[in-house]
Amino acid sequence: MLNNLQVKAYDTENNRFNSGVLKKVNGRYCFEQKSTDDGSTDIYLTPGWIDIHTHINDGFGIFGTNGDDIGYKTGVCMLVDAGTVGDYTIHGFRKYVEPTIKTNIKLFICISPIGVIFHHEYNVMEYLNVKNTVQTIEANRDIISGVKVRIGSEVIRHEGIEPLRIASEAAGMANLPLMVHIGGIPPNFSEIEPFMKKGDILTHCFNGRGGKVWNDDGTPSKSMEKLMMRGVILDIGHGSGSFSFDIFSKANKHGLPKICIGTDLHSFSRHRYVFNMATTLSKMLGLSMVLEDIIYGVTKLPAEILRLKDWCDLSDIQNATLFRIRHEPLVCEDCYNQIMTFDNRIVPVGVILNGDFYDI
Ligand SMILES: [Zn+2]
Repeated sequence: MLNNLQVKAYDTENNRFNSGVLKKVNGRYCFEQKSTDDGSTDIYLTPGWIDIHTHINDGFGIFGTNGDDIGYKTGVCMLVDAGTVGDYTIHGFRKYVEPTIKTNIKLFICISPIGVIFHHEYNVMEYLNVKNTVQTIEANRDIISGVKVRIGSEVIRHEGIEPLRIASEAAGMANLPLMVHIGGIPPNFSEIEPFMKKGDILTHCFNGRGGKVWNDDGTPSKSMEKLMMRGVILDIGHGSGSFSFDIFSKANKHGLPKICIGTDLHSFSRHRYVFNMATTLSKMLGLSMVLEDIIYGVTKLPAEILRLKDWCDLSDIQNATLFRIRHEPLVCEDCYNQIMTFDNRIVPVGVILNGDFYDI
């Protein structure tokens, strides 16, 4: 079915779509560009979608969910677990969970050794340890791509910003990016900013929990301006409580850098608010983000964060996502009781996962 399929393929280097055909040559898929576009295809081909923010420690704690259900079966070829797993739980993850997932996976290790099992993972601060975290990273470099910390009033009680300081130190020592969850205050956003460096990721950055990330008119706050100047990467991290249509729309009007589109899919958000990656991408399309920038945020940008060299090379495809854009209404809600109906929906039709095609 896939040989000589006409597609519009996403060129990550030039941030545009090119017409051509998807071919299978000597058992390997590749894209061949054709200069003439007869407009007869409505199928898009992109490098495999990467979800930079998920929770796939299935069966452990309140967030863990099934990887493949939010992975290749829904168009996502790489899932990044955003800190559900820590020093004390990674052995269990690797032994009992990892072998059950067919989708490619990476982890941002939680700075709390238990991972995110419940909401206050830093209650016993003496267990947080830079040296142990770095040792765990060294022993699991094949799968660990960063360090995760949650800083917001929904997580932090007496600990202040100490978990952030420790996580930032561990990430620095391991030469990996730090992903910082922001939410309710305290702590103030201005206290968080100094700990983030170029290439780190700020997730939930369009949340409506009250922190002064953006000014009321949608311009970046002073701290956000500093982070953007420094090259910190913004991630949507939608989840059940972290995405506001209003805040995103206002910020987007003033022009945003390239952002990551992580879903924050977990055991709750997959049943309400988020559902899957395609719904999140459709929301971004409905909120006037350009399709090319949406795809960049789910392919090239996360591939760079994960240091995946050939992920976006369509001349020799290992992982790719095929989708259509259907002109059908899509009713969506953000996390703050706002409902919007969008005109179009992004619908995955198949993935190439590690060289094999799967129909969706
Ligand atoms: Zn999350």
